[in-house]
Amino acid sequence: MMHAFSWFLPVMFGCAPPDPVVEPIPNTDSGSDSGSDSDVVEPTPDLDALWGPEDTTTAPFTRGMVSFTFDDGWLGQATIASPKLVERGWKGTFYLVPEWFGTSMDGEAFMTLSGASDLVAAGHEIGDHTMSHATLTNLVEPEVFDEMADCQLSLESTLGLPPGAVANFSTPHGAYNDAVLADARLLFTSHRTGEARLNTPATDPYTLGGVLLEASNLDYPGRTPDDVEDVIQLTAERRSWLILVFHGFVEGELMRVTDQPLDAFDRILDEVAEADVDVVTIAEGVQRMPHPP
Ligand SMILES: [Zn+2]
Repeated sequence: MMHAFSWFLPVMFGCAPPDPVVEPIPNTDSGSDSGSDSDVVEPTPDLDALWGPEDTTTAPFTRGMVSFTFDDGWLGQATIASPKLVERGWKGTFYLVPEWFGTSMDGEAFMTLSGASDLVAAGHEIGDHTMSHATLTNLVEPEVFDEMADCQLSLESTLGLPPGAVANFSTPHGAYNDAVLADARLLFTSHRTGEARLNTPATDPYTLGGVLLEASNLDYPGRTPDDVEDVIQLTAERRSWLILVFHGFVEGELMRVTDQPLDAFDRILDEVAEADVDVVTIAEGVQRMPHPP
């Protein structure tokens, strides 16, 4: 269980664990004891410590916003999560990896191109998560640029989207550096990280905060169901922008620690529906950010 503990530490220090999709997990302990074998966990009710103090220097958004974002193209995003959003009239942003279409990892399937087409038909936004889910900080140019640009081109051509429709990016494993940011500024209107913080009109759209929610972190301060409820309320009160990040969805027993338990997901949907916030795609949220003339 070294991986579970190593994910836990960065959370305690206020930054999200990197997108851990390549970590295999034992099937026997998923969701049941992750985190509970550590005596370090203690509830942290201090919202400012978890989400950053309120920014009083700039005007907030006209209304709080919540975005549902999904990384990697896991099958259950198309078959389970998307219908739940559509049922409520909401749209999400799905950051897809073309080379993973129709494949699987640790027994959990990724969607096919047909599944991605279903997302487009449902009105969701398609985002770029690189061609092969490479750790971009391990690459040099032009590989970094190509991973991002080839993905954009591939998604737009295979899904029948107009040029520029895949306009927003999230980094695999949350791993980025100056080269990644420079390329993102050339290719996209935003870059979503896996760093847990609320976004405001003053946030750089190329380092958008994103709150990772999954089975492995249900017990973490800031990620418990009660804490998520609190941050949704805080988003409404501060009129800020909360971006939620999800990976796998499966019916029945979880397959990976990065899967999101469906009861926790349903609770989040209910809480967002009751909160005074707009549900927006990343493209829609970026539109509400201040733009230089
Ligand atoms: Zn990923």
